[in-house]
Amino acid sequence: MKNTALYWVVCGLLLVGSFACFALINRADLPTASVAGMDDPAKPRIVKSDAEWKKLLTPEQYYVLRQQGTERPFTSPLVDNHQKGTFKCAACKTPLFSSDTKFESGTGWPSFYAPISKKNVIERVDKTLGMVRTEVECGGCGGHLGHVFEDGPKPTGLRYCMNGVALEFEKK
Ligand SMILES: [Zn+2]
Repeated sequence: MKNTALYWVVCGLLLVGSFACFALINRADLPTASVAGMDDPAKPRIVKSDAEWKKLLTPEQYYVLRQQGTERPFTSPLVDNHQKGTFKCAACKTPLFSSDTKFESGTGWPSFYAPISKKNVIERVDKTLGMVRTEVECGGCGGHLGHVFEDGPKPTGLRYCMNGVALEFEKK
């Protein structure tokens, strides 16, 4: 009888132990999971430490891309850029927007009605500043680009409101 009780205690401990291990393994997996493949749009493909990004980016780029900052409106030369070409991520050079989808929003930030590919951007809910907005991140490096709103022009009705400092223009 005593032995049976001991048996169940040991079994119970083993069970709890394996659950704890499982939880720990899952936690330990979190940082490496962010290096995951291209087919998962919710995870950036390029992962660098904060210190590395700080070295690579200008202070303005770092503030917007890595600290979810917002540049002052009408400060980016890209607002009035009407040349044909591609707007890439300033940090990792992932092609994000084509000049074909750029439009005059009057907001003071470069605005587009669609990304080059949905795979190249990550969209997630942002509840900061007492608002519910959809944040747009670079699918390549996870850098913050801006927000997307549903008051854009046809054909999508979307307005990708981007920080010019987070973009780099490549003329066609
Ligand atoms: Zn990027």
